[in-house]
Amino acid sequence: MRALIRRVLMRRTYNAGHYARARSHADRLLSIPHERLLARSVVLRSYWNEEAFQALVSTGKDWDDEASIHLVGLATERLSGVASGPMHDQRRQERWMNVCASQPVPAVSIEWNAERMEANFSQEGQRVWFRYPQGYVFWDMPERYELSSTHPSLLCLTAETLVFPWEPSAQSPFPSTRPYGHRGSLAFSAGVDSTAAALVMPDNTLLGYHRRSFDSMIDHRNAERLMLHLAEHQEREVVQVTSNHELIRTHHGKPVGFSFDLACAAHLILLADHHDLGAMAFGTPIDNTFLARGAKFRPFEVSPYFTYWTDRFAQAGLALLLPVASITEGGALQIVKQSGWADHLNSCMRGDGVNGCGQCWKCFHKNGPLGRPFDINAPEIQQFLNKRPMPTATHALWALQSMGLEDKVPDLAPLLEQDLGWWTQAYPPGFDLLPEPWRASIEARVRDFLPLMPEPYALHNIDHFSDE
Ligand SMILES: [Zn+2]
Repeated sequence: MRALIRRVLMRRTYNAGHYARARSHADRLLSIPHERLLARSVVLRSYWNEEAFQALVSTGKDWDDEASIHLVGLATERLSGVASGPMHDQRRQERWMNVCASQPVPAVSIEWNAERMEANFSQEGQRVWFRYPQGYVFWDMPERYELSSTHPSLLCLTAETLVFPWEPSAQSPFPSTRPYGHRGSLAFSAGVDSTAAALVMPDNTLLGYHRRSFDSMIDHRNAERLMLHLAEHQEREVVQVTSNHELIRTHHGKPVGFSFDLACAAHLILLADHHDLGAMAFGTPIDNTFLARGAKFRPFEVSPYFTYWTDRFAQAGLALLLPVASITEGGALQIVKQSGWADHLNSCMRGDGVNGCGQCWKCFHKNGPLGRPFDINAPEIQQFLNKRPMPTATHALWALQSMGLEDKVPDLAPLLEQDLGWWTQAYPPGFDLLPEPWRASIEARVRDFLPLMPEPYALHNIDHFSDE
């Protein structure tokens, strides 16, 4: 069989989740030099998806390319149990430094400019570069995007979300204020909370999906399935932008990820003039706004986070919108369930592109309440259920209660005595975080989907694990 056909079959079987077949095609491509890297990646990723970590390590241990070394490292961690501790952190850090070192750089280099944040951006073809103190990251922007017609305050705001935790200079006043655009947008992850946010926002909202450019364990297929559905049925316009900016924080001893939570919208902020955007929404539910770590109530409307960033986004002509700040993760599940989108959505990042893995924490608290199968005794689910304070606390308690699994966490019996039925209802003070002209339509949609929590609000008394 010709290599080209073999490669097509390998990709096709892999994408369909037929990992053993994908591997047998890949095995035959390993001896062909220019096919080798892709074939190795398919072999190791297929083992990863099957959770066959031992096979992954024995097969890939002598492969010397970056991606293989990375995957073998991750699988070794999995085999040694829950990875933690300084040795692990150091190895992980070394690996990410290698990934950083192999990233592309612009043809024309620029110096980091701490005084003028907007001067740290450049464009070469469709690629926009951002110079940060330790290197460069990029976005591959849509056709006809022009950095030169992008307002400087948008560039400053983008830079601030990327280096905020480490560069105080990014907090300087913007050189000028951008007038508000007209269209709403949402930093869209295709998960449940984000999808609920899309459902309560106007139909013309632009959904912006951030795609990692480098190899990692994030599987984009579940997200792609939902986005394909939205596009094919003309439900919403989705723009996908590929970037490597999640590597920035690895220079600060942190694992790969967003520098700061609002950095998930960096691509959309850059696109604000291109799409005439006047509002930027985040699918942050009550669990991360009015609740701290999902476990303790706080008056979010006066928090320094909310007031500071509302003001900064406003200077860039963008209303900062939290359309699901009146909704919990449980309420978001109810909204998604009532929409026609639920069948196309799966929050599990280790699934096969259609189903969840049934073994992870998301499969427990997102897929379980949707009536999808999961194994309560899976190691990751047990590990989280037995952690104190329990992660995603109130939501996880509600999930246990609504699925009749209270006996799985006997020590939490006192917390499970109260009826958590209110958890899937809307919290009206959350509407007050929405500025006009956006509030009226979002509030109306939320009220259509969910009943309101009864007063006095049980939410105000949430304070689990306060003595721990
Ligand atoms: Zn899963």
